[in-house]
Amino acid sequence: MEDCLFCKIIKGDIPSANIYEDDFSFAFLDINPVNIGHTLLLPKDHYENIFDIPDDLLMKLSVNSKKIAHALQKSLSTDGVNIISNNGRASGQLVFHSHIHIIPRYEADGFKHWKGKRGYNEGEADEVAERIKKSL
Ligand code: AMP
Ligand code: ZN
Repeated sequence: MEDCLFCKIIKGDIPSANIYEDDFSFAFLDINPVNIGHTLLLPKDHYENIFDIPDDLLMKLSVNSKKIAHALQKSLSTDGVNIISNNGRASGQLVFHSHIHIIPRYEADGFKHWKGKRGYNEGEADEVAERIKKSL
């Protein structure tokens, strides 16, 4: 994709601190890390979000995200790791070349997860679960 920031990074047209590459994936440090070592792992081919990525590629990316999480654990002595992908503008996706955030975490590092906004009304959770199940 010509106008894609991450395609340009993969091609080497924009500088990045790269940590991993194979025939289908590429990983580099996020320029604005939550913690030092915050990594972005992406397919080399341009896919906008998780819905566009073929399942076999998604499985391979998932295995690579574990490999990178292990390396962060070993090299940076993390206490934990978040593996997150934002899909769609409403979810916070800013770069529309699908990517997985692999974020080193430490006890009391101050990074807050989202807070639940509400509970379910009586019977609502069962009804929603049914609706979702029918779409699987
Ligand atoms: P997302 O909101 O999931 O689309 O995340 C996009 C991420 O890309 C953000 O965490 C940015 O800090 C990161 N980012 C944007 N530009 C660059 C860049 N040139 N090099 C490395 N990371 C970048
Ligand atoms: Zn791209």
